[in-house]
Amino acid sequence: MPAPYILTSSILSADFACLGDQISQAEQAGIDWIHIDVMDGQFVPNITMGPFIVETCRRITRLPLDVHLMIETPERMYADFAHAGASLLYTHIETSPHIYRSIQHIHEVGCKAGIVLNPGTPAVAIEAVLPIVDVVLVMTVNPGYSGQQYLPGMLNKISQIRRALDEVNPRAMIAVDGGINAETLPPTLQAGAQIFIAATAIYKHPLGIAAGIQELRTRLPV
Ligand code: ZN
Repeated sequence: MPAPYILTSSILSADFACLGDQISQAEQAGIDWIHIDVMDGQFVPNITMGPFIVETCRRITRLPLDVHLMIETPERMYADFAHAGASLLYTHIETSPHIYRSIQHIHEVGCKAGIVLNPGTPAVAIEAVLPIVDVVLVMTVNPGYSGQQYLPGMLNKISQIRRALDEVNPRAMIAVDGGINAETLPPTLQAGAQIFIAATAIYKHPLGIAAGIQELRTRLPV
């Protein structure tokens, strides 16, 4: 992983009429990664994008692409997303009964592996795979849409997972996704998050994409 703190912009809130321009603006403003939210209308109510969009983003930017799979039976798609250019695949514990195998499978297709927990899933559910994951993604809203209010009860879960990782896999990082903005970022940082996924706070910032990224960046240690 390139840096101790990562800002990644979820294109779920981008204007798809000019996606290339939106990603280039984020890149020029110093975004670290581009986050792609994949939803299937089954695991979550919304339907968004698939490998085709990942491949499109891969042609627009050389930045790492972190791809969040909110789909049923995600393991059947890992190779497709890897071939499309994903750098990191996040898979939900709620969709993967054979989670150890799923994390190994993601590594086999050449990507970093992230395990994701919904707000209702306790930290203990992912304990077995903590030694082999690269990232733990703690959902701070119920997944499905951008622009939701963040659930502050998730802070305890972040600190609990950070303590557990320090014991078995100190290099693994914690990501947070859902309702992250300049106000909600600092407490998650304090609790132990290192990767901050923001959609609305960047792509819908009233002063533009660069201003949204700069505002979030000021909340991170230098
Ligand atoms: Zn996401």
